[in-house]
Amino acid sequence: MSFKMVDLRGRLPIHATKRYKTRKLSDIRSGAIHHSLTESGSAEAFAGYHIRTNGWPGIGYHFVIGRDGTVYQCWDLTVVSYHVGNSNKHAVGICMIGDFRSQQPTPEQYAAALDLIRWLQGKLPGIVIKGHSEYPDYSWKSCPIISMDKFRSDLSRGVEMPMTAEERKAMDDLTKQVREQHARIDAQAEALTVATSRILAPDWFVSEFSSGDLNGLISEPTMTKEGWRVLAVALRASK
Ligand SMILES: [Zn+2]
Repeated sequence: MSFKMVDLRGRLPIHATKRYKTRKLSDIRSGAIHHSLTESGSAEAFAGYHIRTNGWPGIGYHFVIGRDGTVYQCWDLTVVSYHVGNSNKHAVGICMIGDFRSQQPTPEQYAAALDLIRWLQGKLPGIVIKGHSEYPDYSWKSCPIISMDKFRSDLSRGVEMPMTAEERKAMDDLTKQVREQHARIDAQAEALTVATSRILAPDWFVSEFSSGDLNGLISEPTMTKEGWRVLAVALRASK
């Protein structure tokens, strides 16, 4: 599991008397994506609201995903909680905290949602992922507002978790370091090639020693730069 999951099952407020029904795992056909319609919030706060204001047995979502990408599991998958009306029996409710009319999911949150779905797909092969407004009778609902086509395509493409600004900077710094190191190695290799490559006699050598004896030597790349220097010293000494 590549995301952080906090288990809140059995730890959230529930209605004094009402209880959700349960189902078999095989009854589950889809995962429903919601936004909370609140700029901030928590599973505890949503549970309280759903119980007090809606009169529901407990929080409507199976999972709540925080702005920091933490996933809170609120119910077993076998609990039939309320979030998509007539489709509740077959759906898992996943709520991203945020008011997506004015906010975007954070990169961490979006990545966690994708990871959570992939984790669910492992447990529930064939599960279909839909936005709240894609369920029957909910086309009027502005939930979750984000593009579900993009979400599903990101899901199937296995998009990597977008980097945070800090991670991006660390990655850029590292890339720069590696590039600089490569440039240094290239320069050293070039210097080494120059130092070890055989060259034609340099002009200063030719002008000093252009005697018949040396013609064969001079017309071919015979020695390195250093070699020509050493030869010149030897020839001068023998003069
Ligand atoms: Zn919704």
